[in-house]
Amino acid sequence: MAIPDYFQRNAIAISQVISGLDEQRLESRLADVRIGVTIGPDAVGNEGRALADLLVRLLARLYPSIIIRGEGAGGVGDEVRELARRINPRVEHLGQPTVEVVVGTARPQWGAARTMFVGSNGWSAKLSTHDPQACGASNNPFGAGLAASVAASDVFRHVFLSGAELDTECEIAVPNVGEWATEGGDIGGNVGSIVLAGAGAIGNAVAWALSRTQLEGSVEIVDHESVDLGNLQRYVLAERNDEKKRKASFVATEFSGRLRGNAHECTLAEFLQKKRHQVDNLVLALDSAKDRCAGQASLPRRVANAWTQPGDLGVSTHDFLEGACVHCLYMPDGEQKNEDHIIAESFGVMNRLMQVRTLLYKNEGAPRDLLTAIADARDLPLSKLLPFEGRSLRTLYTEGFCGGAVIPLGDLGRPANDVHVPLAHQSALAGVLLGAAGVGMCLSGRVDSVVVQYDVLKPQERFQVFPAAKHVAKRCICQDADYRDVYRQKYP
Ligand SMILES: [Zn+2]
Repeated sequence: MAIPDYFQRNAIAISQVISGLDEQRLESRLADVRIGVTIGPDAVGNEGRALADLLVRLLARLYPSIIIRGEGAGGVGDEVRELARRINPRVEHLGQPTVEVVVGTARPQWGAARTMFVGSNGWSAKLSTHDPQACGASNNPFGAGLAASVAASDVFRHVFLSGAELDTECEIAVPNVGEWATEGGDIGGNVGSIVLAGAGAIGNAVAWALSRTQLEGSVEIVDHESVDLGNLQRYVLAERNDEKKRKASFVATEFSGRLRGNAHECTLAEFLQKKRHQVDNLVLALDSAKDRCAGQASLPRRVANAWTQPGDLGVSTHDFLEGACVHCLYMPDGEQKNEDHIIAESFGVMNRLMQVRTLLYKNEGAPRDLLTAIADARDLPLSKLLPFEGRSLRTLYTEGFCGGAVIPLGDLGRPANDVHVPLAHQSALAGVLLGAAGVGMCLSGRVDSVVVQYDVLKPQERFQVFPAAKHVAKRCICQDADYRDVYRQKYP
């Protein structure tokens, strides 16, 4: 079968979402899957081209057979067919598709068992399982990027989760765009200088989106690492022969327009020192909370941040003086921990702190994926946790953990050690949203502290937007008089 040689990483990522699916089972599942991509004549513009491009970048990393047709779509069909081959040189282009994605106003070609229609309009993605969806005429890649990510997620759920509910008859807008949303969705202007910290999976998608705008200015791409084979599973810009290239440099080559991409092959700390900590717009696409907080502590004028964790992803923006800063979201251990922090820590799932916080805030029951993660992290049989499914996290904590129902009293202490490998479409979606948030704060010149979360379980109401207040412990750097004074002096 034509699976890519970096396939094992896909298997790890998928097994973290769907338990019991090991590499061998995954391979045999994919043996019968052939994805058709039909590209309509309206996909020749910026939006359609971007949509088809990102969709194929996502699909070609996982599915061994992709059959592409693009009659009437200029050269877009040939372009993305070549692209698929550069991503997975073993990809097959023959056979009868079992699932088809139609981009723009084309009719389906193959009578596949499942057909999804996808289009975009400026800031919005449009999805249907019944009728073709047009591609808009704006120069805005964000709605198209959102559409491609959500469509890839729907293909994934259709293939791997039987009976999964797909996005249909819906228009999903990039959230929190606010006052700088423009008529018709066109965007333009000078963003000045954006510092993109991290050229990993999320950073790749940020650069994918920014490089497809017609904005002016520069993106300073900071990353000291090189691309390894395992990265190819979810780095949307990476092709098979990009292995071993420096991440910052290969991402910078994507920028060929008026928005320049400059590579900085160093750590964020080294970069910030070089810039004497003068950064107007910091976009954090980093894995570790510690690095994100270090970025915030350098007191950039405005910050946007994104994350992925199993079953959840989101983006936050930060007004250092008035709202939550990045530190507030990832307050380090201390004597006055928040309830969510204490609970996530004792569950062993600090990597899911945002999910725990949201569930507590909304007083919702414990979902199965969280229970599974807790069972894994604390080495417990899932059966001990299942009686708490759908019950509040406080109950699970007080009865199960403090009350001894799940783990023996006094046995709290094994550290969280699981390493989360996100799926390609999750990282892509987080990156597209982060890119939009970054452009928004640059063009508007202001930022509010807001957390946007994407709910994979609610197809019709994907985005939840929360204003983010400062940490209640009042011990954060954004509540410290010295830090606040320095910030005010830097940006009078
Ligand atoms: Zn803070």
